[in-house]
Amino acid sequence: MLEKVLIANRGEIALRILRACRELGIRTVAVYSKADRDLMHVRLADEAVCIGPASPTESYLNIPSIISAAEVTDTDAIHPGYGFLAENADFGESVERSGFAFIGPKPETIRLMGNKVSAIEAMKKAGVPTVPGSNGPVGEDADESLRMASKIGYPIIIKAASGGGGRGMRVVESEHQLLNAITVTRSEAKNAFGDDTVYMEKFLQHPRHVEIQVLADGQGNAIHLGDRDCSLQRRHQKVVEEAPAPNIPDDIREKVAMSCVNACIEIGYRGAGTFEFLYEDGQFFFIEMNTRVQVEHPVTEMISGVDIVKQQLLIAGGEPLSIKQSDVKLSGHAIEVRINAEDPDTFIPCPGKISYFHAPGGNGVRVDSHVYSGYSVPPYYDSLIGKIITWGPDRSVAFARMRNALEEVVVEGIKTNIPLHRDKIFKDTAFTLGSVDIHHLERKLRGTKK
Ligand code: ADP
Repeated sequence: MLEKVLIANRGEIALRILRACRELGIRTVAVYSKADRDLMHVRLADEAVCIGPASPTESYLNIPSIISAAEVTDTDAIHPGYGFLAENADFGESVERSGFAFIGPKPETIRLMGNKVSAIEAMKKAGVPTVPGSNGPVGEDADESLRMASKIGYPIIIKAASGGGGRGMRVVESEHQLLNAITVTRSEAKNAFGDDTVYMEKFLQHPRHVEIQVLADGQGNAIHLGDRDCSLQRRHQKVVEEAPAPNIPDDIREKVAMSCVNACIEIGYRGAGTFEFLYEDGQFFFIEMNTRVQVEHPVTEMISGVDIVKQQLLIAGGEPLSIKQSDVKLSGHAIEVRINAEDPDTFIPCPGKISYFHAPGGNGVRVDSHVYSGYSVPPYYDSLIGKIITWGPDRSVAFARMRNALEEVVVEGIKTNIPLHRDKIFKDTAFTLGSVDIHHLERKLRGTKK
């Protein structure tokens, strides 16, 4: 069992990790940048170490600084949260080489999944359904590329093997655009990710984003905690998430989830993870795996009763998974909205001082947020200031509770996207019915049907 954990992150997820540690009786070390002295978890942690100036590259992305903080505080393990260094295999390696446990998978697993070409190959081998595509990198031979694309069938999408954050992708509608698109995506990928490897996939026209949450102990045991639908996105960023994904036949759902469990065992996966899929016309297509806890993990916690962060801590402490698949009983429906400090119309970030904050409440309402009245949102980091999660015995109750919560919540002093959720998204008929595709929100914001 771990005795002391360093939390290498900030904001709501740092507080979330601190809460889980405290429940397990684990002591905590907060690390923070000079701009983050007033973060809630910094106040609550047993120890706190300033690791550098506001700039993320000099603080939350500064590997030597974080390792030194772990050394001076005599920490057992480091939890990377999400974002920052969470999926950086070199960080995982430094952590383990310095004698600490990394709360996540082995560095080689992060590396395998960080490269989309090798991830897809590993998933295909394990029996996870993937998008029809080039089955590997696109080579230099133009004729071969043209043949491959026409075999897949247009439209196709060219993707950077090392891409992330929705960047390094280009849709190709027809043959005459193909070679140019490959060249341009290659050079963009080289500049952005230092790797010009690209591959091809069939471009799905109206998919939903559905993902499977897994837990594995790296000792041969793995389970899934069901699925989530994260189709409401803007610029490939999730805005609202729910669990379970509505309107998917149970046999299809179960089959894909079990293929993920099987893949975890095959690759020796350790920790919490998410298999992301596109879902179209009753079929699942793997796109990538996230080897960390996700922003939207609470919706799964609400329907499964499993505390995912506590499980991460137990697994990192070397405990075998104590939950069997047959113990997992999913119940009811949960929905999460991300509250961002941003203009609800222009989406421009809006940092600044929150003069007044009032959290919503009531039966089935959970708020994961680090903010409080008087807290200043710094301009240097992601604009997420919290999440509201509601649970109900069915989807309509979860929605009704969310509508109440969005009426109740008060954030004064800065602009937030609460009006977008309250006045647009939760009044949208198609979304209320369920099963909208990943382009739905952008179509709605543009005011078009296509
Ligand atoms: P990233 O790692 O940058 O997030 P992903 O591979 O997860 O990249 O893809 C991001 C998003 O791009 C997906 O959620 C989806 O909206 C879109 N996308 C990716 N691949 C396809 C595809 N084959 N067909 C249609 N849309 C796709």
